[in-house]
Amino acid sequence: DTGRTEKRRVLLKLSGEVFGGGKVGVDPSTVRGIAEQIADARGAVEIAIVVGGGNFFRGAELSENGMDRRRADYMGMLGTVMNCLALQDFLEQAGVSTRVQSAIHMEQVAEPYIPLRAIRHMQKGRVVIFGAGTGLPYFSTDTVAAQRALEIGADEVLMAKSGVDGVYTADPKKDPAAEKYGHLTYDEALLNNIRVMDQTAMTMCKDNGLSMLVFGMEGQGNVTRALLGERIGTTVTV
Ligand code: UDP
Repeated sequence: DTGRTEKRRVLLKLSGEVFGGGKVGVDPSTVRGIAEQIADARGAVEIAIVVGGGNFFRGAELSENGMDRRRADYMGMLGTVMNCLALQDFLEQAGVSTRVQSAIHMEQVAEPYIPLRAIRHMQKGRVVIFGAGTGLPYFSTDTVAAQRALEIGADEVLMAKSGVDGVYTADPKKDPAAEKYGHLTYDEALLNNIRVMDQTAMTMCKDNGLSMLVFGMEGQGNVTRALLGERIGTTVTV
């Protein structure tokens, strides 16, 4: 039972680089800006958020530099929780009621991940922020976004990107002839090796009929517009 009301329910994926403003750590003014945009959409839509952690650690990178992959992945997951707390703080300051749910137990700062409770929070108008990924090494927070969206019955995944405003035929920074897709299917993306999100995540969306909007963070009010269902960026469907 995903407890659906008539309201649209979305899962917003914010990668770690969005939090750092391109640097390591958290850039408070950037996070405040995102929080205020989320606050502008609240009430009109039920919102859950999956937060990445690449601004702190990526397990694969640490393991290339000599660390054990599994332990490095746990460091990556713990990094996502710091982003959750930063986002929670600025959301609360913007007047939004929030709960953080973590896939790794840490009761002082976050509830455990309980899907039915997450749904209840959203129905009460709270924004739920999911941290610590799946709690399992070898996964990415893109996969978590797909999994959580499916488990809480979200209508759509909203993938916020920084530095690009949708999915292109080629890398627009390298190829001036690159064109933006308005719409794309998962098969097209998988066949042409277009990295909208990682393959595990895309396959999960495809197999379960979950659609996705890939949009750019940079435009004025873009996060709010995406949350409210505006078709900015590229839509990816089965
Ligand atoms: N991670 C993991 N399991 C998960 C989700 C994340 O081990 O279910 C680790 C992994 O090391 C990853 C890091 O956490 O590199 C940060 O997540 P991700 O790279 O997905 O963040 P983003 O790229 O969105 O900032």
